[in-house]
Amino acid sequence: MNPVADAIRKVTAAMQKELESGDRSAGIDTNDLVDVLLAIADELDPPFGEPVAEEDACPKCGERQSDNLVWQDDETVRCANCGHRYQPGR
Ligand SMILES: [Zn+2]
Repeated sequence: MNPVADAIRKVTAAMQKELESGDRSAGIDTNDLVDVLLAIADELDPPFGEPVAEEDACPKCGERQSDNLVWQDDETVRCANCGHRYQPGR
């Protein structure tokens, strides 16, 4: 099993499905290429969850990826990126 080949196959299958259903043009432009490359990258290295609101971001480093902002027992959030602890929304 080669994860890169698997990712390419999976994205290709999704593209073929979109082509068959008419959701995607059979012509290819730069945007299509970017979509495909990013989709392959996301398969190999899944993106983090949705970013948190701007006011809830880490005040020290600006981290907004919810997976890197971990709620602690004392109602603070610990930023996994820089280690800062803070109360969000303040
Ligand atoms: Zn931080």
